[in-house]
Amino acid sequence: MAFSIHGLAVSRGVVMGRAVLVGSSRRDVAHYFVAPEQVAGEIDRVRQGRNAVIEEITRLQASVQQLGPKDAPQELSALLDVHLMLLKDEALGQGVKQWISERFYNAEWAVTAQLEVLARTFDEMEDPYLRERKADLEQIVERVLRAMQSTANPAGLRLQDRRRKPHKTDTETGAAAEESLVLVAHDLSPADMLLFKNSAFSGFVTDVGGKTSHTAIVARSLDIPAVVGARTASQLVRQDDWVIIDGDAGLVIVDPSPAIRAEYAHKQAQGLAERARLSRLLHTPARTLDGEVIELMANIEVPEDVPGALACGAVGVGLFRSEFLFMGRHGHLPDEEEQFAAYRRAVEDMRGLPVTIRTVDIGADKPLDGSQHDDAHLNPALGLRAIRWSLSEPAMFTTQLRAILRAAAFGPVHLLVPMLAHESQILQTLAHLQRARASLDRRGVAYGAVQIGAMIEIPAAALNLRPFLTHFDFLSVGTNDLIQYTLAVDRTDESVAHLYEPLHPAVLRLVADTIGQARRKGKGVAVCGEMAGDVAMTHLLLGLGLRSFSMHPSRILAVKEEVLRADTRVLAPWAADVLAADQPDQAILLR
Ligand code: PEP
Ligand code: MG
Repeated sequence: MAFSIHGLAVSRGVVMGRAVLVGSSRRDVAHYFVAPEQVAGEIDRVRQGRNAVIEEITRLQASVQQLGPKDAPQELSALLDVHLMLLKDEALGQGVKQWISERFYNAEWAVTAQLEVLARTFDEMEDPYLRERKADLEQIVERVLRAMQSTANPAGLRLQDRRRKPHKTDTETGAAAEESLVLVAHDLSPADMLLFKNSAFSGFVTDVGGKTSHTAIVARSLDIPAVVGARTASQLVRQDDWVIIDGDAGLVIVDPSPAIRAEYAHKQAQGLAERARLSRLLHTPARTLDGEVIELMANIEVPEDVPGALACGAVGVGLFRSEFLFMGRHGHLPDEEEQFAAYRRAVEDMRGLPVTIRTVDIGADKPLDGSQHDDAHLNPALGLRAIRWSLSEPAMFTTQLRAILRAAAFGPVHLLVPMLAHESQILQTLAHLQRARASLDRRGVAYGAVQIGAMIEIPAAALNLRPFLTHFDFLSVGTNDLIQYTLAVDRTDESVAHLYEPLHPAVLRLVADTIGQARRKGKGVAVCGEMAGDVAMTHLLLGLGLRSFSMHPSRILAVKEEVLRADTRVLAPWAADVLAADQPDQAILLR
């Protein structure tokens, strides 16, 4: 029967598809689709793995029996029997075969998918003895996966980007379709999310996360419907369930009836029509009714995002989150050459348009290796993050600065520094930059001039802009963090998501002051947090004097439409009124 789960809407649109539960078994295995001709080979890999474990346990069983009852506890022999029985059970073998031959999952994925299915069956058993057998099942699956390692596909990433093959007809709707797959997980790190770029998944749901958590941000950049903070979704949804994700409403509908599916198919069609309508604005210059030219730029995570940004009409990259080059590397950070190649690629692919490269912002919800460390009980958002980490790792930092400076020889580069609060940090950063230039001079390596900017994302910076306006060419307001730190609301924590309020008067005042002071000083100022891509905020930001926005490429045309309808002469006094209001709410934005 259909039921729905509410979460936070983070990425727009509607998708219907089969649920793929990932990661809840905490097994870090490869997930990718195999070609039809590889199906037999994958089934054979599972068979070999399973046989190897059966042999291993049978050997162990024999030696236990040789020991006799005095030296070997009876329970051990009984336990090994249970393991053998589970291994030979058809429910495991047949299920795995089905995942491979019908869904084209690779062998490891098929094994963990079937484990999920069986584990739930055990969870639902009334008899406590039988319920506890789930642990045995998990153990033998672990062993089978280990035994399969020797035949693993070396190219198999944890979540690999191979497109699945069309294979089935949806009998209920009669649509001859390539079935969409939607990913359901308890949590996904930003590094995991990065692996989904160009992946087969058409939507995703996580139990945890806030609207501006980095996982949500990457989801938005994938431009697929997504819901985070859906609390128990990964427990309620089962492997292969039919699921609708309504990314506009933050709703997940499980096992929808044909009538609900038809309704959402209509909504999906409307979404596509809306996109087609907006695409007509692609070549229209972003200029307000009173002639103000507005810069609409793209936020990117990896150089491969550049073509997508250009295709949406971005006039530059306003934020290249370089930390995504550093994540999930198991301690092997990218060296100068690797970074240089990535930055140069982005710069060259932008064909003369500016690229704003932010120095690494590792820490908080963007750990290097995808998992929180032991000290996660400390407050990572207030810890050694972003520039704080960079300044504590001078060799890493100057390596990055050298790579950025070198890329600037190939096109306009702006260098952006995150999370600054103290003038001493500013001076140290500039000294490192000088050192990086000097070392390139010594090596005789070419580099280019860069404009240097600071992110304003800590209230202390917004309240004390003088040193920033003295030392930097431009400012970029990181509203995601500015809201988090101003309101003391963890941006990743769905339990306080209702308090994460971009329209809080304190937040608006800090944003307005930053824009105003930068403009008065003749410095460039942009907003690159999620606020910049929120069409509900476009007129307010224009009214506050903002002329440069950086956002997910998928938001650019919708924001451009708002710009084309705006008259800043009217918006400025209105924005001043909003700023003076006690507690502006969304209604105030509906002018
Ligand atoms: C921000 O904080 O608004 C920002 C753009 O940076 P990030 O989201 O990467 O922290
Ligand atoms: Mg930030």
